[in-house]
Amino acid sequence: MPLKLYNALSRKKENFKPLKGKTVSFYACGPTVYDFVHIGNLRTFIFDDLLRRTLELNGYRVREIMNLTDVDDKTIRGAKDSGKKLKDYTLFYEKSFLADVDSLNILPSEKYTRATDHIREMIKITDILLKKQVAYKTKDGIYFDISKFKNYGKFSRLKARELKIGARVSSDEYEKNNAQDFALWKFKKENEPSWAAPFGEGRPGWHIECSAMSVKYLGMPIDIHTGGVDLIFPHHENEIAQAEAAYGKKFVRFFVEGEHLNIGGKKMAKSLGNIYTLQDIQSRGFESLDFRYLTLTARYRSPLSFTWESLSAARNARKKLEGKTISAPKSGAKVLRKFRVELLTAINDDLNIPKALALVWKAKGKDEILYADKILGLGLDKLKKVRANIELEKLLRKREVLRKGKKWREADAIRNRILEDGYIIEDTPGGAKLRKVS
Ligand code: AMP
Ligand code: ZN
Repeated sequence: MPLKLYNALSRKKENFKPLKGKTVSFYACGPTVYDFVHIGNLRTFIFDDLLRRTLELNGYRVREIMNLTDVDDKTIRGAKDSGKKLKDYTLFYEKSFLADVDSLNILPSEKYTRATDHIREMIKITDILLKKQVAYKTKDGIYFDISKFKNYGKFSRLKARELKIGARVSSDEYEKNNAQDFALWKFKKENEPSWAAPFGEGRPGWHIECSAMSVKYLGMPIDIHTGGVDLIFPHHENEIAQAEAAYGKKFVRFFVEGEHLNIGGKKMAKSLGNIYTLQDIQSRGFESLDFRYLTLTARYRSPLSFTWESLSAARNARKKLEGKTISAPKSGAKVLRKFRVELLTAINDDLNIPKALALVWKAKGKDEILYADKILGLGLDKLKKVRANIELEKLLRKREVLRKGKKWREADAIRNRILEDGYIIEDTPGGAKLRKVS
C-alpha cells in the first residue's frame, strides 16, 4: 500500500517515499510564542502529529524539527507591552505550548529550535544572499530581491504581473496582494533586541529562520515540510526563495499544508478576536483529548468548523470509545491482520483519518482498537493499564479481608494470582502495597 500525500508543490496526490532509505526528514513550522496558542493553531499541530504517526506506522523513522519563533514583530511588541525582557516573555509561552502538546498526545519533535538560538545561521544565509546579489541593503535593513529568483511566486501560483517588482515590505506578515521584496534583516531600532552582524546590527525578519534551521538540521532537500495553509504565502514562498537562491538546490520535496479551524464561517485567528485556547475549553469542563477527537472527524485538507455542540459530541464519542476499549475482547490474529491492512489503506490515502475512526467503531477486538490508536493518539493504551491496576487493587483489598479472617490459603492464592500479573505484595505498616517486579 503506497503512502499517498497531496503535495502542495505539484497540487497533486503523489506516492511518498523518503529520499534516503527509511528515514524521513520532516520540518514543521511551529508557533510564534507571543501568547497562548489557540485551538486553531493546535489543529495544525495535531495534523503534523497524525502525519508523523502515519509515517511511523509505515515503518519510517521520522526526524522532526519544529521551530519556535521567539523573535519577530509580534513577540517584540508583546514583550514591550508587558514590560518584560523578550526572553522572559517568550519562555513563558513556550512552556505553555509544550504543555499543550503533551496534553494532546502530540509526539514531541526530535528538536524544538528557537529562532534566537540560530541568529548565527540566519546571518550566514543572509550574507550568502547579499554576496550573490539576490539581497540588497537599504537604510532600514537587508531585503530579498524577488526579481532575482526566477521561481518566485511559483509555489503560491502568483502571476508575474502580481509581483510588485522594486517595492518593499518590512513587516513580517503581509498578504498576497503585496508580493514584493521582503526583509531578511531589520536594522537596530530604539528599545528593540538586536544582534551584531557583518552587514549591520539588527534582528532577523521572520521568514529566514525556517530556511536557516531546516538546512542546518536536515540538509537539502528535505522530504516533508508542513504548516497551515495560511503559511503558503508569504512564509513558505519566501522560505523556498531564500534557501534555493542561497544554496542552488531544491529545498523541499513535499509541502503538506493543513486547512484551518474555522468559527462562525471565519478562520480562527487572534487578529479577529475569535479564538479559544485549551484552557478556555478546559474551563468549560472539556479535556484536551476531546478536542483532539474533534479534529479526527475531518480530513486535514478540509476546513473544520468549531462549535461547542461539536466539541460535546466529540467528548461523548470519546468516552464511549474508552468504554468500548475497556470491555472489548482480545482480537483474533486473522481479524487483526485484516484490520491492519484496512487501517493502513485508509491513512495511506492522504491521511483519511475519519475513515480510520469509522474502522475503529466497527472493530470488535481490543487489539484492533489499540492498533488504530497508534494513529489516533487518544491514549487508549494507557486506559488498559489503569484498568489492570484497578483490578489488582481490588484483589489486594480482597486478600486483606481474607487475611483478617485468617483464611490463609485463599489469601495466598490471590497473592499468586497478583504475582502472575507481575506484581509483588509488600505488607507495610500502612497496609499491603503492590510493587512491580522489575
Ligand atoms: P503562528 O503562531 O501564527 O505562526 O501559527 C502557528 C501555526 O498555526 C501555523 O502553522 C499556522 O498556519 C497555524 N494556524 C493559524 N491559525 C490557524 C487556524 N485557524 N486553523 C488551523 N491552523 C492555524
Ligand atoms: Zn516556518
